[in-house]
Amino acid sequence: MIKVGVFGASGRVGKLLIEDLKLIEDMSLSTVFVRNSLDFAIDPSVLVTSDMHSFINAADIIIDFSLPEACEMLLEEAIKNPKPLVIGTTGLNNHQLNLLKQASELMPILYATNMSLGVALLNKLVYQASSALKDFDIEIVEMHHRHKKDAPSGTALTLSESAAAGRNLDINKVRVSGRDGNIGERSKDEIAVMALRGGDIVGRHTVGFYNDGEFIELNHTATSRNTFSKGAIRAAKWLSTQESGLYSIADCLEF
Ligand code: NAD
Repeated sequence: MIKVGVFGASGRVGKLLIEDLKLIEDMSLSTVFVRNSLDFAIDPSVLVTSDMHSFINAADIIIDFSLPEACEMLLEEAIKNPKPLVIGTTGLNNHQLNLLKQASELMPILYATNMSLGVALLNKLVYQASSALKDFDIEIVEMHHRHKKDAPSGTALTLSESAAAGRNLDINKVRVSGRDGNIGERSKDEIAVMALRGGDIVGRHTVGFYNDGEFIELNHTATSRNTFSKGAIRAAKWLSTQESGLYSIADCLEF
């Protein structure tokens, strides 16, 4: 039985992880980290703690869907007490991404800005389309619920990296995340990533390839957050048998 710790347990995805883990035969929820207290009932066998050391010790593997500062705290503690980590938190800054890489030398870490099977395939398709349709302009639009804090979404940023990689471009040099005013014509290589926020949209990403006379749009819509919690559980099961290193969702799905 794999003992799973959930970090970010009272969040939108964290709560679903707790429910979905009940359906998995060879995994069980052993602990949740809380800042204050939980506002919902949980099986008494689960350790509910605000002590990071006890939290890490009580788990064989940890799944994180929290916020960047919280994820940073988890990584710092895990470096002292290594455990396999599935990280779903988005919006990590460069320091936090470096910490994640450093930690992955000591433990297996799977980091995915989107845990869904569909988006994993979408990234492959975007790479292929970007490479094959060299003259097409690439524009990415993402839509999320009104509560989302980071923008553009981690998924959209990953998609933009796949698009840039398909053309051997450095995404940091070609990404545009807003247009306003008399900005002139679109340059050939730019890849725009635009964020829309509203209502309860779980997540919608469109990667468009536009040329004179035709365009293709690749679209993915998440209709339920369970897509992410179930994907993270699948990733955790796979990660529990891996050596130290930094893995992607594509590694886990063997795409
Ligand atoms: P949420 O705001 O509902 O939940 C955040 C959780 O983090 C809460 O439990 C909160 O208590 C906890 N938290 C915040 N600050 C903390 C701290 N300092 N210490 C400990 N815990 C802290 O968010 P959500 O919608 O569940 O999303 C969580 C993260 O996962 C976001 O970054 C979101 O973008 C990302 N996300 C990733 C995927 C994916 O597939 N990778 C899918 C959906 C959301």
